[in-house]
Amino acid sequence: MLWARNVVAMTKTSAGNLDKRYDVVIVGGGAAGLAAAVTLARARRAVLVIDSGAPRNAPAGHIHNYLGREGSAPADLLADGRADAIGYGAEVLAGTAVSAEREPHGFRILLDDGSAVLARRLLVTTGLVDELPDIPGLESRWGREVLHCPYCHGWEVREQRIGVLGTGPLAVHQALMWRQWCEDVTLFLRAELGAEDAESLAARGITVERGAVAGLALTVDDGGAERFDGVRLEDGTVVPVQAVVVASTMVARADVLTSLGLEPVELEMGGHVIGSAVPADAMGTTAVPGVWVAGNVTDLKSQLIIAAGAGLTAATAINADLSAEDTRLAVAAHRS
Ligand SMILES: Cc1cc2nc3c(=O)[nH]c(=O)nc-3n(C[C@H](O)[C@H](O)[C@H](O)COP(=O)(O)OP(=O)(O)OC[C@H]3O[C@@H](n4cnc5c(N)ncnc54)[C@H](O)[C@@H]3O)c2cc1C
Repeated sequence: MLWARNVVAMTKTSAGNLDKRYDVVIVGGGAAGLAAAVTLARARRAVLVIDSGAPRNAPAGHIHNYLGREGSAPADLLADGRADAIGYGAEVLAGTAVSAEREPHGFRILLDDGSAVLARRLLVTTGLVDELPDIPGLESRWGREVLHCPYCHGWEVREQRIGVLGTGPLAVHQALMWRQWCEDVTLFLRAELGAEDAESLAARGITVERGAVAGLALTVDDGGAERFDGVRLEDGTVVPVQAVVVASTMVARADVLTSLGLEPVELEMGGHVIGSAVPADAMGTTAVPGVWVAGNVTDLKSQLIIAAGAGLTAATAINADLSAEDTRLAVAAHRS
């Protein structure tokens, strides 16, 4: 894999454990985790990032709305982030953390290969999983013609014919929002429309398609390449849109946190559940002392640059906490 080029090889003890105690172990090497790693390594902390290599935006060709990195490939941003972190002395390990447990001086983080690492503090930046509506074809075109976020993809499909799959409670809101980028918007909707919504859609020139959606219309050519042709209705009609918009359910990847007793909570928008996230304060502090979170695992709405900022913020809080502990230990040693 491309991203593996900056990964540091780690030595293991005969027991299969990494024999080093880190100031901070960061589980998750996306934008949030790597920004935190750079900040902590620059603060001269011993840092390990454990990353399983599946950032949320991996299916997308390019990133947008990240100042100074407009149009970069997602993998390139992270490769540069890893190089930055490693340049300041952080270590990056390709692997998956499965759980964590308290031990006298911090935490033991367990990996799926049976190894473990020790850390004084733990930062979890594992992101989220987008669960897509159960409609055939969505999965394979996700991040290409199947879109969720106008700020990530709206400009790229401006003035194209788009369809909004009205599977969720926010379908009307989505259709009206995407109308900013595209004049030709079709809302595929079975649910009844209130008078106000119907009037708003009509006023913005949005077509409402009442036929039941069977799936995406995909054609495989002789070379095996898949082509997206539009939305297929149950009666066989293909509505020829160039992209479709869906609402995913955004589920925090929280296994490591739940193992420490930190459960995700459901989040609502306009009275509807849109996903789950692990609660934390503005610095990323969780209810478990010594454990911080940043990025999508705690904030479903955060874009890349916000996730990176949250990683930096959590890193400063962690460093302050470690400094306080270093001082307490120094005073105790000094007195004795
Ligand atoms: C299709 C698509 C396109 C997008 N485009 C844009 C865009 O153009 N601009 C923008 O600002 N935002 C975009 N986003 C949103 C963007 O993906 C998120 O804002 C961003 O990924 C959040 O960063 P993060 O670090 O919190 O999580 P992630 O980027 O998802 O990183 C989490 C990392 O943790 C790792 N991980 C998870 N569990 C474990 C574990 N147990 N052990 C070890 N590692 C683990 C994962 O492999 C991953 O590398 C897009 C999202 C999607 C779905």
